[in-house]
Amino acid sequence: MHEVDMTKCLLLSLQEWKLQHAPRIPVVKVVHLQVGDFTCVEPDALRFTYAAAVQTTWLAGSELRIEPIPLQARCVVCQATYTPNPQQAYQSPCCNHPMEEILSGRELKIRSIDYVFPEAADPAQVASGGEASQRLSASHRQQAEAIAPEPCPVA
Ligand SMILES: [Zn+2]
Repeated sequence: MHEVDMTKCLLLSLQEWKLQHAPRIPVVKVVHLQVGDFTCVEPDALRFTYAAAVQTTWLAGSELRIEPIPLQARCVVCQATYTPNPQQAYQSPCCNHPMEEILSGRELKIRSIDYVFPEAADPAQVASGGEASQRLSASHRQQAEAIAPEPCPVA
């Protein structure tokens, strides 16, 4: 199943991202995902597969939010941008040229991650009031621009 493989790739990317914060473990609330219309990924199926896969992991309780990206192509004959239509075999409406250059719609990537860090229980650090309040504000609601590349090559 397509979505199962996608979820595996996604979890690998998130695992990599987590390691960047080691030894701290971020508590992930929402994973914002961009999914192109041309990836053949069914958003509902992906959300379902993700929820099932993370149940017993450090990502338990996190939610997948999917932003669909429409398919856009450029006509290689006249450079016009168009929205390919499957009923027209994805040809450009201007020149009836087969789709060659895809501008968007093949994305499958993490746009951002909403996460927090659990309060550090290190007494040595709590001693300094300034540091403690700084940590508090820092642990509020953070948004990470995930550097994760395309989790998987899309066939
Ligand atoms: Zn054209």
